[in-house]
Amino acid sequence: MSAILETDGLVKEFGGLTATDDVNLSIERGELVSLIGPNGAGKSTLINLITRMLEETEGDIRFEGESIVDLEPHEVVQRGIGKSFQTASIFPELSVEENANIASLGAEHGSFRLNFLVHRNSYPEVEQRTLDTLEAVGLRDQRDTRAADLPYGDKRRLEIGIALASEPSLLLMDEPTAGMSPEETQATVELIEDLQEELDLTILLVEHDMEIVFSVSDRIAVLNRGSIIAEGTPDEVQGDPSVQEAYLGG
Ligand code: ADP
Ligand code: MG
Repeated sequence: MSAILETDGLVKEFGGLTATDDVNLSIERGELVSLIGPNGAGKSTLINLITRMLEETEGDIRFEGESIVDLEPHEVVQRGIGKSFQTASIFPELSVEENANIASLGAEHGSFRLNFLVHRNSYPEVEQRTLDTLEAVGLRDQRDTRAADLPYGDKRRLEIGIALASEPSLLLMDEPTAGMSPEETQATVELIEDLQEELDLTILLVEHDMEIVFSVSDRIAVLNRGSIIAEGTPDEVQGDPSVQEAYLGG
């Protein structure tokens, strides 16, 4: 096995606050790793460091063996790291298909090219990727629906689709089921499992629902106050006293 992503002594300080503190995380190709921990533990900060939306204070991040800390966020996407955003990345007034097209094209050119909407027929490979993406997230039949008119769960699926449109090998998901109904949550969990299997994706998932985490994860890393306090299979992590302590405030 070879690591697709490694963080090496990763530190992020916000003023006097250390949000991630010497994080060494290694993810193997094809794994589904969940990142858990109490609110404020530094989960989103770690994700945002990997996507380069945040600059590290210290340390390194390697993707497929190469450091990515000098890359811009769009270059990280081109390398093969996709992120499903916790906050909406959807253009509500555009259709589902147009949203997916923009994401496909953004991956191609490294930035969003809105004028593609006018010249869509000149980009057949983008068009195909868009349809594949919508198929993968189960939104092909809703491709002409205005994104704003989608039910909440489908909006979140479209966000996952937008992340997939760049054909990532590593998908980062920050609380993809937040705000979903139990049915939408179940559908999303199944989608995540399908994606890992069928698209051969490596996934780093931030999720607060422990039932989901323990059922889908190959491995779990537990963050507390910026540090990884436990790491292992669901069984290993569940039985770890320091995890119980962090969660129960003991
Ligand atoms: P989590 O996602 O695990 O809930 P975050 O990574 O969002 O935690 O936050 C970790 C810590 O860093 C928190 O104390 C939070 O208040 C702080 N923090 C996060 N982003 C910023 C920022 N942009 N500026 C200042 N502090 C921040
Ligand atoms: Mg968060």
